[in-house]
Amino acid sequence: MGITLQNVDYTYQEGTPFEGRALFDINLAITDTSYTAFIGHTGSGKSTIMQLLNGLNVPTKGTVFVDDIAITSVSKNKDIKSVRQKVGLVFQFPESQLFEETVLKDVAFGPQNFGASKSDAENLARQKLALVGITEDLFHKNPFELSGGQMRRVAIAGILAMEPNILVLDEPTAGLDPKGRRELMTLFKTLHQEGMTIVLVTHLMDDVANYADAVNVLEAGKLVMSGKPADIFQQVDFLESKQLGVPKITKFAHNLVKRGLDINPLPITIEEFSEALKHG
Ligand code: ADP
Ligand code: MG
Repeated sequence: MGITLQNVDYTYQEGTPFEGRALFDINLAITDTSYTAFIGHTGSGKSTIMQLLNGLNVPTKGTVFVDDIAITSVSKNKDIKSVRQKVGLVFQFPESQLFEETVLKDVAFGPQNFGASKSDAENLARQKLALVGITEDLFHKNPFELSGGQMRRVAIAGILAMEPNILVLDEPTAGLDPKGRRELMTLFKTLHQEGMTIVLVTHLMDDVANYADAVNVLEAGKLVMSGKPADIFQQVDFLESKQLGVPKITKFAHNLVKRGLDINPLPITIEEFSEALKHG
């Protein structure tokens, strides 16, 4: 069933001198088994939405539906807890949330906290660590002895150990080198192919084009566009006026069009571009 936001507003620290409105009347749907991207400038409200998707925040106004559970400003802990299990949220720089003394204990913490026995939780942890490419020799190390990229993967394993149906990733590859970035994007692609719904916040338009099947564009707390990446990225001038840009190949093709070539629609991936050249 996925997630639906209906007339959602979010205000930080409402009723205090520090009150700040972050989201304005957001209406959108994240379809089950989709790979949905969110793009927008810093401060546009992307992280605020991600925290609403898993019940970490509740809307100030409006409703967030997760499957058949409705979350509103007056929701009870029981509903919020079941949303937290269904929707796994990987924060920006998730490694900063590691805290246990070993890698294995850290990943097993979530399922244990949700009622799994110690041995079931550790089995799950081993399985998810293997999935993210952390080898057994690291299981009993202190997480802080690992490299940055390894710590990031341990943190992601910790979320996967909760066995969510929906995985929400807030700029999951920020600060990683190209190899680490590729490995993580491949992992998310595999999870998606196995049936998990993926929600990705990114500023990399090529990742949106290469992986996502839906994209939402936010600006100053409002949803300004949403649709398929192939359609959204036709709006080169609009996106550039918002300083968001388009995939590299789309920009390249757009420049050729300006010089008189006929390429319509604009390609968003290299594969589409080479097809357009063959048949153009
Ligand atoms: P993004 O992830 O797109 O950069 P955020 O969702 O983090 O945007 O922020 C949206 C708006 O909410 C910004 O104006 C930001 O300053 C504000 N904001 C974010 N977190 C807090 C907070 N904890 N307290 C008060 N304001 C916040
Ligand atoms: Mg953010």
